[in-house]
Amino acid sequence: MSKTQEILRAPHEQIEKIQLEGIKRTAINCYENIPFYKQSFDEAGFDPHSIESFDDVARAPFVEKQDLRDAYPYGMLAVPLKEVKEIHMSSGTTGVATVGAYTKHDIDIWGECFARGILFADGSDEDVVQVAYGYGLFTGGLGAHYGGHWMDATVIPISAGNTERQIRVMRDMGTTILCCTPSYAMHIADTAIEMGLDPARDLHLRAGIHGAEPFSDNFRAELERKLGYKVLDIYGLTETMGPGVANECWEQKGLHIAEDHFYPEIINPETGDVLPDGEWGELVLTTVDREASPVVRYRTRDITRIIPGQCPCGCTHRRIDRIHGRTDDMLIIRGVNVFPSQIEDVMKTFDQVSSWYQIEVDTDHRSLDIVTLKAEVNPGFELDSVAAVERLQKEISATLKTALSVGVRVKLVEPKSIPRSEGKAKRVIDLRKEK
Ligand code: ADP
Ligand code: ZN
Repeated sequence: MSKTQEILRAPHEQIEKIQLEGIKRTAINCYENIPFYKQSFDEAGFDPHSIESFDDVARAPFVEKQDLRDAYPYGMLAVPLKEVKEIHMSSGTTGVATVGAYTKHDIDIWGECFARGILFADGSDEDVVQVAYGYGLFTGGLGAHYGGHWMDATVIPISAGNTERQIRVMRDMGTTILCCTPSYAMHIADTAIEMGLDPARDLHLRAGIHGAEPFSDNFRAELERKLGYKVLDIYGLTETMGPGVANECWEQKGLHIAEDHFYPEIINPETGDVLPDGEWGELVLTTVDREASPVVRYRTRDITRIIPGQCPCGCTHRRIDRIHGRTDDMLIIRGVNVFPSQIEDVMKTFDQVSSWYQIEVDTDHRSLDIVTLKAEVNPGFELDSVAAVERLQKEISATLKTALSVGVRVKLVEPKSIPRSEGKAKRVIDLRKEK
């Protein structure tokens, strides 16, 4: 573990040297072993041997999700199949799955990267880590599992689901760190309260490592209050590894990219130009030492920015801001770009509504977009009082209009009427696609 702690505090020049050498090796490897890159680099007139600086890297063409899909099943492998020890696939939230393959070395790095999240949570071999991400092709479960082993912690591989048992196990086994999606953590918290527990008192949680989907600061605050622990964000994606590409530290001021393994760029999603630190755009990742499924300039579609400056925690790896959402989830409502997380932030300023919501997008008879926010009221708010319901709906709608400059219809619904999720919550239902 000390080697990890050392690299987390290494001078940035040393990290840059590792990155540049690794990127060059990766790009040459991709060019020589993966037909897609041979063709794409040749078409762009890009010679991977010419990489001497990060500016040179920015000349390389992008690889996109569709390219990975087209290469299904094994078209993007850079090693013989017998070197591949494990295969995962993306959860297919937005279409056909993509494949991630791992050599023994890739799995080691994965464990080490996730373990950084546990380290940032002040974790050690004394911790009991409950993995309530789903196990399987989804990278959440096994990523957390390998991370827990890397830390020499006690791992409980309970997977997602069976929430009451989940909570009993958590209490009886003295779980200190909970790993799952933030929406499942909220469901766990609410269920524990329904079971008559005071989770902050009756459980032993110290930290939650929650990722795989966006969640707002307000959502985080509510989780922390209900479960009496600290929530750290973790980011990753199957196409580059899985969770652990970037981990939030105890400061909660952004997520440190594991820069000795991943090189980040932020681009303008429309022009593809690289943006300076501080500006919001699409995250592009290049793997530095991935063996089985390397990528050069993979467009993640995730919207974030590189946070300028040093983190007070002393880790030298650059930070990305918490992900706003993906370009696919971005709603364009009559010309205005809106992320569900922004709607969530507004909603959370109203005590009468809970954290559960769904956004429905449809078109009216003039083909104009109509957006309806279904928000669950908290127990205690009476839906029988038509006047009170209408007043609150109008108030939320007006606040959304002021904050986001978009018109959103608000519909208050009964507590527990929006389906709970054990993995990623489905926040947006686009009825336009079903027409
Ligand atoms: P899928 O694209 O099918 O959901 P993955 O399970 O690989 O496949 O999910 C990766 C995606 O999940 C990321 O590209 C990102 O959009 C989202 N994601 C992962 N971690 C976070 C996080 N901490 N915050 C916001 N979004 C995240
Ligand atoms: Zn930090």
